[in-house]
Amino acid sequence: MTPAISGTTKLAGVVGWPLEHTLSPAIHNAAYEALDVDWAYLPLPVGDETALIRVMSAVKVLPFVGLSVTMPYKETMLGLCDEVAALAEMAGAVNTVHVADGRLIGYNTDGRGLLESLSEEVGFEPQGKRAAILGAGGAAGAALVGLVLGEASSVTVVNRTLDRAQHLVERVSPRARGTELAAIALDGDAEAAVAEADLIVNATPVGMRPEDGSPVPASWLKPGRVVADMLYRPAETELLRLAREVGAIPLGGLGMLVAQGAIALDIWGGGSTGKAPRDVMRRAAEDATRAWPSGA
Ligand code: NAP
Repeated sequence: MTPAISGTTKLAGVVGWPLEHTLSPAIHNAAYEALDVDWAYLPLPVGDETALIRVMSAVKVLPFVGLSVTMPYKETMLGLCDEVAALAEMAGAVNTVHVADGRLIGYNTDGRGLLESLSEEVGFEPQGKRAAILGAGGAAGAALVGLVLGEASSVTVVNRTLDRAQHLVERVSPRARGTELAAIALDGDAEAAVAEADLIVNATPVGMRPEDGSPVPASWLKPGRVVADMLYRPAETELLRLAREVGAIPLGGLGMLVAQGAIALDIWGGGSTGKAPRDVMRRAAEDATRAWPSGA
């Protein structure tokens, strides 16, 4: 439900394009209502980067507490913030902006959101574990940084375009401490790295459309391993269906979406709003997905 809006209401929102199917307004507004804060969360569909620059100038002078950032602006937003947290810099993407005293401070909560979802939903803790990430964009960067912070023993970035995986690994390597990092092309020697991993994370959009299939074949998936797909539409992607069939532990992206949003709310509130109510946010997300056409 949208909270009552008054002359003192503080604003938050999501910038991206397209936003027709975003779940974030439902998730956040439910949380604000549960916390009884005078905030409202809006969709801000922004068509191009020129418009994004103008929107971000406006956000600085309006009563915004923060913004979520989604595709295709997570990388662009790095350059539009007055300050960027080290983890977002390492990930190469900003998914959360805190507006404080007219300044834009960029964060990335996707990596922590992924770890929170893995821990809460399937009891997976990365410490000492081997992981393979499919993809090398902003979401993969956030997952990689999260797994390094979580002290995974090794993380292999598997990407269609090898260069991009190599750049990501090079950027994060100086801060990787005990985690061994590698980059492999999807059509190269990726099978062993994926098959040996305790955790496989899909950070590509492959699986969104029914005709996509799975980003990796079923023979690369092993029983007992965790297979996390960042996609949440459809609720069960082909990758997750295959994982279930081989006896692996499938995890969809809805929990990560909720967790990254909850962490963003905690940043914007700075302790003054109370901890983000993850259970309320999860229920709101699930309710909103029920409005999707069947099969979506
Ligand atoms: P991105 O920056 O555009 O990166 C996409 C990655 O997927 C690239 O590495 C790209 O490879 C790869 N890819 C795209 N199409 C492919 C194909 N047909 N076959 C193989 N690889 C392909 O996107 P992103 O921001 O990282 O987001 C990735 C996905 O994660 C999106 O679907 C997004 O919705 C999802 N996500 C979910 C959450 C959540 O909270 N659940 C959070 C963040 C992101 P190349 O480098 O070769 O182009």
